[in-house]
Amino acid sequence: MTAPPEIPAPTEPRIAETRPAPVPGRALALSVAALVVPVVGGLFFPESVGEYGAMLWLLALVPAFLLAYYRGWRGVSLAFGAGMAVLVITQLGATLTDRPPADSPLLLLVIAAYVGITLGIGWLTEMLRDVVELQRREEEFRRLAKALETMQVGVTITDTAGRILYANPADARQHGYAVAEVIGQDVGIFASGGSRKPLTPEQLRRLSSWRRESSNVRRDGSGFPVHLRSDVVLGRDGEPIGVVTTCEDITDRRASQERLQEAYGRLRQSHVDLQAAQLQLIEVEKLESVGRLAAGVAHEVKNPLMTLLTGVKYLSTFRPGNDPEVTQLLDDMRDAVLRADAVIRGLLDFSAPHALALTPQSLNAVVERALPLLKHEAERAQVVLSRELAHDLPEIALDGFKIQQVLINLITNAAHATPPGGRITVRTSFRPLMLMSGVAGTPVGAEFQSRDSAVFVEVDDTGSGIPPAQLGKVFDPFFTTKPTGKGTGLGLSVARQIVELHGGTLHLDNRPEGGVRATLVFKCNAQEGNDGKEANSAG
Ligand code: ADP
Repeated sequence: MTAPPEIPAPTEPRIAETRPAPVPGRALALSVAALVVPVVGGLFFPESVGEYGAMLWLLALVPAFLLAYYRGWRGVSLAFGAGMAVLVITQLGATLTDRPPADSPLLLLVIAAYVGITLGIGWLTEMLRDVVELQRREEEFRRLAKALETMQVGVTITDTAGRILYANPADARQHGYAVAEVIGQDVGIFASGGSRKPLTPEQLRRLSSWRRESSNVRRDGSGFPVHLRSDVVLGRDGEPIGVVTTCEDITDRRASQERLQEAYGRLRQSHVDLQAAQLQLIEVEKLESVGRLAAGVAHEVKNPLMTLLTGVKYLSTFRPGNDPEVTQLLDDMRDAVLRADAVIRGLLDFSAPHALALTPQSLNAVVERALPLLKHEAERAQVVLSRELAHDLPEIALDGFKIQQVLINLITNAAHATPPGGRITVRTSFRPLMLMSGVAGTPVGAEFQSRDSAVFVEVDDTGSGIPPAQLGKVFDPFFTTKPTGKGTGLGLSVARQIVELHGGTLHLDNRPEGGVRATLVFKCNAQEGNDGKEANSAG
């Protein structure tokens, strides 16, 4: 990955670079000397003028011209150049006409006056050039000023002590001020807390340019995130003379960054979910192949088991010599065959094709049909089996036989776990799902919305509960804590499969007061319902 290009440090304002250099005193002195020396020489030594006057003039004019020329003082060098030309022409004229070039101081004065005038013209030219340059600078200044005034990024120029010398309208606006209000203020009025540690000249020299993200405050005290970039302005002597700071309001950028972060979080979450779903899919595929295998084996084993059972029953009718050992053996054989048959039935249920025969009916009716079948089981376990059924439960599309199978399984499990004298309660209700959100351990599927209405069936027992470590495993196929012969470990996995085929959920949790609550939730779009209950005892 390539690093973003560095923003080049701004060059010093052109306005400072293009300032014309003043004509130094040395050039001026030289020019005056060039004028004065020959005049004084002519006045005091008139006899030497004719011989040496032209030479002296040239000696003075040539270095002055060269100096002016190389320093770029066009006007001055023009004046000296013209002076030299006049001198050479006069000298040539004198040679050709055979007259002395400067036989009187008056001539020298005329030449000096001439040179003086040309020098004056030179100075005027220089001044004109200054005026033109000033105009050019003003235009440049106007252009730069316009750029600063109209740009959307705030710009402040401060002196080295942090006093605001200039602020563009964008800067004043984003801090809630008018431009005139901030000029002359300390730049700390924009900093949160209202104060700021000014940088020392040494720090300014060392830093030259620095950026940071920070929080600035508006006039009303509200804060906003900004990106700041400061650049030190150096004077001609290389010493800091001020700081230019650009201030960009990054509220929108921060918001989009946060949105991006959120989207990234969601993306990551979906990735994790996808992975979990993938794993689940693998599990389901594994289970399905186990189911198919089990179904094949079960079909093969079921018929021989029936033959064995018929044989055992037949042999039992003989009871040769009423031998107790033989009787015991035959009973054991029958129990073993029945146990094997129960496992086979469970396996077949687990792998059976999942077609449902759905008809609209009340869950109360299904409960009423299931309870008599469990009366014997409850009596054997010496527990009270009671029901609390909501009146006018809305009808929902159910496979009554399969849901009855689920209820029988849940109540049988409850009876197995509940000690004698305990109680099993089957409760139905109809209420919006939202009201359940506060009830611990009633998760519902993703297809449920919080305002959906749902029909609930709860099977509560006063038994031993489920150890927390096992809570996550009870729906695993073949997970059982019951002694051999009493449990197959398939009841809950088959029950959940049936409930999920109905678009519902089945969940088991320990009740705070002891025992287990199995909760069945079926989505229901009917808006009417009645929470009235009737309490009956079926045990
Ligand atoms: P099985 O009843 O053949 O063991 P299940 O799948 O129906 O198979 O139940 C799995 C296990 O879940 C049970 O062995 C038991 O440990 C636990 N369990 C189910 N219901 C209850 C309950 N009401 N109270 C305590 N434990 C329960």
